[in-house]
Amino acid sequence: MTVHFIGAGPGAVPLLTVHLLVLGGTAEARRLAAVLAGTPGLRVTTSLAGRVAAPPVPESQVRIGGFGGVEGLCGWLRAHDVAAVVDATHPFAPRMTAHAAAATARLGVPLLVLRRRGWADRATPDWTWVGSLAEAAAVLPGLGSRAFLTTGRVDLAAFAHLHDLWFLARSVDPPTPPVPPHLHVLLDRGPFTVAGETALLREHRIDVLVTKDSGGDMTAAKLDAAAALDVPVVIQARPPLPPGVDAVPTVQDAARWVLALRAGAG
Ligand code: NAP
Repeated sequence: MTVHFIGAGPGAVPLLTVHLLVLGGTAEARRLAAVLAGTPGLRVTTSLAGRVAAPPVPESQVRIGGFGGVEGLCGWLRAHDVAAVVDATHPFAPRMTAHAAAATARLGVPLLVLRRRGWADRATPDWTWVGSLAEAAAVLPGLGSRAFLTTGRVDLAAFAHLHDLWFLARSVDPPTPPVPPHLHVLLDRGPFTVAGETALLREHRIDVLVTKDSGGDMTAAKLDAAAALDVPVVIQARPPLPPGVDAVPTVQDAARWVLALRAGAG
């Protein structure tokens, strides 16, 4: 915690400044930074992994790149006098979440995980839940022959051996090889609409959708479109959170936690 002073000389009033680290890469992390921007006595740094070429910029200080594992994160938290961490990474970024849990536990720094709700309550009997994308690839040939993949650009390798299927893959940046041989790539970033997703499924004659239980509203339209067209869905379940970490589902919950911590500090 850093102490600044309002005014000068003997009458100066101390103002404690809490430094919050937000682990980002999601719309929720950007919204949290926007909600907290300008809060007196609070300094926010958002950390991005640096995977996306032109990421949307949060309203906070930003640092980019990995920390170097748990050791590196501990060093960064100490060096930058971080008083609290909100892990607002994507639900399928389990390594960063595990590192945040380990580093904050070691240093005694409060940690909150901000995890949007998943899509389980939208599930229909046409959904097949899988534990991994390898499992998704194993069930896929039994469900369809023209698959829409919205699993992220680094995860296409799991489907690269499926030579008899045709794939439409959508990602923000181009996928990294290996990729399936019959692949059409669509570079796009949400939010998406049900009308747009329905048209896309029809245009490419998609007969199976493969996705992750990412949750949130920005990319949920494909599920409504799939349900309307009777397209089956293969969906990867979320990895579990590390034991003992506190988690909240909304930006408002996380902001309340931060403000309570800030109030307690000074
Ligand atoms: P991951 O497997 O959990 O993280 C791998 C490594 O990337 C971490 O060990 C860490 O490196 C670094 N890293 C991850 N998030 C970071 C952050 N916010 N700030 C600094 N370093 C970070 O995660 P991933 O699947 O590679 O995803 C990378 C980022 O993309 C995440 O921040 C996530 O929020 C965002 N994202 C992921 C997905 C997805 O489907 N996976 C989708 C949308 C957005 P060190 O060990 O060197 O610290």
